[in-house]
Amino acid sequence: MAKNKVVSYAPFTLFPSLVTSALLEQAYAVQMDFNLLVDAVSQNAAFLEQTLSSTIKRDNFTAHLFDIHKEVLKEGVAQTVFLGLNRSDYMFQRNADGSAALKQIEINTISASFGGLASRTPAVHRHVLNVLGKTKEAAKILSNNPSKGLAMGIAKAWELYGSANARVLLIAQEKERNIFDQRAIENELLARNIHVIRRKFEDVSEKGSLDQDRRLFMDGQEVAVVYFRDGYMPSHYSLQNWEARLLLERSCAVKCPDVATQLAGTKKVQQELSRSGMLEVLLPGQPEAVARLRATFAGLYSLDMGEEGDQAITEAIAAPNCFVLKPQREGGGNNLYGEEMVQALERLKDSEERASYILMEKIEPEPFENCLLRPGSPARVAQCISELGIFGVYVRQGKTLVMNKHVGHLLRTKAIEHADGGVAAGVAVLDNPYPV
Ligand code: ADP
Ligand code: MG
Repeated sequence: MAKNKVVSYAPFTLFPSLVTSALLEQAYAVQMDFNLLVDAVSQNAAFLEQTLSSTIKRDNFTAHLFDIHKEVLKEGVAQTVFLGLNRSDYMFQRNADGSAALKQIEINTISASFGGLASRTPAVHRHVLNVLGKTKEAAKILSNNPSKGLAMGIAKAWELYGSANARVLLIAQEKERNIFDQRAIENELLARNIHVIRRKFEDVSEKGSLDQDRRLFMDGQEVAVVYFRDGYMPSHYSLQNWEARLLLERSCAVKCPDVATQLAGTKKVQQELSRSGMLEVLLPGQPEAVARLRATFAGLYSLDMGEEGDQAITEAIAAPNCFVLKPQREGGGNNLYGEEMVQALERLKDSEERASYILMEKIEPEPFENCLLRPGSPARVAQCISELGIFGVYVRQGKTLVMNKHVGHLLRTKAIEHADGGVAAGVAVLDNPYPV
């Protein structure tokens, strides 16, 4: 779908890739904990303020989101129902003894995508295996339907909002390449008689409004839920779009996510959560959840000015292949590795700008062979690694959690020569886990 109105297929692997069942189960088992954690962080204004204070001095994008967060808090949050649709991503770290460990790469709290397409890929790999006469193997491909689960979350939030004629407003990008992924969710909602309207931020500026109770109206229709599939990177915002985002945040419509939940998904927050004692503060009285969460954390290091950051920089420069340098960005292709990372660290070392980045331990999975299929390219057998994502859904009404679930998975596979990048970035392709 490179050009407007050109229809193409999403890239995928010819075969499913082997994934250890125990790791798949571990990822599913910790998803409800991650939902709780994200929700707890989003409600903890003091934690967000403290965690992001150095970052927002140097990172305009995070600062802008933070300003909106502060402004909404000052006015008073009108929204009473909260909806989280997230995806926690993992890679399989190869241990010295040859076993593998589940390590979180990041959690996506806004626009977590491919739940729709991942609902279609099991049938593809079952078919391929059946064609090869491998019917027993075909039956082992797990069923997967994240789009249904994500739609269930939106439907619950819509129902709790409590206005029979209200719409779901999907904020879409101008040039959307992944529309079929979104349609899968829209169609599930339509099947429940919930109507989705697709609009851009620009449309919200022109035709969106709040009434005196801060109910949101779009083209005269009341909006119950705003589902963002846009608004997660700086290029998505003109000044006018920032205004539109503020209008949406001020409304009592359920935002998925609200700005606080988007901030809870920043890499800086991820790094601070890994600090010893932090999970215990955020999830008091839940030692089992804390242990499950912590087991998935890789090494994460603050680059704030000071001794701790200095030491992390020295270590990363000495061992460039063991670390990844990450800015506060989403969407793939933003991280720095190897020699490029060293150069950036040398440049940033003495500047406060370094606080807008974090350092992370580099995960090194065991490569395997698969065949990558991409529109317009010859089929290609390559050494690959995978990234597993688990979709989580939660709904909170006031202080009461009314839904907390995992709703499916996504496996993305890429050739090992690419350090970074997802499916949208043109690097990874869709896959299915073959549990072993
Ligand atoms: P984004 O928000 O841009 O998706 P990620 O943190 O998910 O940022 O990083 C993008 C990609 O970079 C990942 O999909 C993964 O392939 C690679 N990556 C990120 N962190 C690590 C890491 N710690 N070790 C190895 N690869 C990583
Ligand atoms: Mg990612």
